[in-house]
Amino acid sequence: MSLLAIVGRPNVGKSTLFNRLVGMRQAIVDDIAGVTRDRHYGRCEWCGHEFSVVDTGGYTTNSDDVFESAIREQVQIAIDEADLVLFMVEAGTDVTDYDAEIADVLRRTKKPVVLCVNKVDTGEKMYDAYQYYSLGLGEIYGISAANGSGTGDLLDAIVAVLPEEKETDDDPYKDLPRITIVGKPNVGKSSLTNALLGQERNIVTPVAGTTRDAIETHYNKFGHEFMLVDTAGIRKKSKVHEDLEFYSVMRSIRAIEHADICIMMIDATSGMEAQDMNIFNLIIKNRKGCVLVVNKWDLFIKDNNTLKEYEQSLRARIAPFDDVPIIFTSVVKMQRIGNVLDAATEVYSNYSQKIPTARLNEALLPILEETPPPAWKGKYVKIKYVTMLKGAKVPTFIFFCNLPQWIRDPYKRYLENKIREKWNLSGTPINLFFREK
Ligand code: GDP
Ligand code: GDP
Repeated sequence: MSLLAIVGRPNVGKSTLFNRLVGMRQAIVDDIAGVTRDRHYGRCEWCGHEFSVVDTGGYTTNSDDVFESAIREQVQIAIDEADLVLFMVEAGTDVTDYDAEIADVLRRTKKPVVLCVNKVDTGEKMYDAYQYYSLGLGEIYGISAANGSGTGDLLDAIVAVLPEEKETDDDPYKDLPRITIVGKPNVGKSSLTNALLGQERNIVTPVAGTTRDAIETHYNKFGHEFMLVDTAGIRKKSKVHEDLEFYSVMRSIRAIEHADICIMMIDATSGMEAQDMNIFNLIIKNRKGCVLVVNKWDLFIKDNNTLKEYEQSLRARIAPFDDVPIIFTSVVKMQRIGNVLDAATEVYSNYSQKIPTARLNEALLPILEETPPPAWKGKYVKIKYVTMLKGAKVPTFIFFCNLPQWIRDPYKRYLENKIREKWNLSGTPINLFFREK
């Protein structure tokens, strides 16, 4: 999955374009709450190409100095972390100093940059757009994010420069689980990676089938075999970014999209904070498996009940997605690192399990019989038969019934809980679909 970042000064129309690109596909859209601003994240599909879009968000600061350095910083992060940068300016104003500043940074990058001039609502407005050739970024795409004109050509230009997703047939590791370590800065991700890979990190191979910047390391030790997914250079200790929050969001999006299972780390001493919740939600929205790691447990002052209480309150915080393994580690003391791998392996086996249809029906039909979906407006729903969808990435259960549209969310949750009681699906999302026979 490629990642496109929209940059530009406030009010040029970035979020309007974001909404148009992501359109009605609300299910994957997520607003990532930030300290100073919200960011939008979603998927766009155009002519059979699917890619993710991040709108870098607006600024609320009043100070010009902060503002300027913040924009520079954000553009740099977008360049480092995205596959493609969409730079937006607007017709109807002169080229501003900020625009020139951003263009200056973008001209130096090797990453593809597409320049789009928004608010070209009518044909004549295109004359206002030509001045932007002076930015030296090549072709300009005049669009109206508000009425949609020009966006088709823009999307053609975007998909033409997206990195190609190669076929994975020649990848000897294609059947291994993809595992990634995510979390906000300073929770111990690099320490855990180093502890796992030790001196053997020279087996780093860029593997076909992923975008250019994803790096996968083949891990095969102590009875565990998987691919550890890193996005570009996660292990070369990154530059210090002022806008750590934006940086960590961009990093997390990339890493999560490339993985099957996410090892999400938090710092025991600070607990599950808003920024951690953002990352956890990215995992949930992307329908990936998850293991929660509470690291730096050595720093936490404990009495007899601490661990149990800590775990309970953490589960309450992440409800209703609380069926997730939680491991308490100290990476510096090398405590319970093996348990993290055991849990990740178990989650992967839950995530990829196929339950035979006969066993599914044997276990679930009596429950469906005893507690059928409640009647709705005098209609009785009868579920006759359950099966798992073949070839689905996530365990997907299909219930065949007479009136699928009458099954409401509370009943779906009830069924999900019953399924989770009967089979070990800890750490994995599941899908429930209702179909007519
Ligand atoms: P952002 O701060 O860059 O995300 O900008 P917004 O998407 O919030 O848009 C800023 C303002 O520009 C809003 O009032 C929009 O309605 C307006 N706007 C966005 N796109 C267009 C457009 O194509 N034409 C015109 N005339 N106005 C637009
Ligand atoms: P990252 O930013 O998530 O990659 O975090 P790092 O791995 O760079 O760790 C940040 C800091 O926390 C470093 O100083 C580590 O030595 C320290 N650290 C990592 N794990 C632990 C732990 O389990 N206990 C303690 N006390 N410190 C840790």
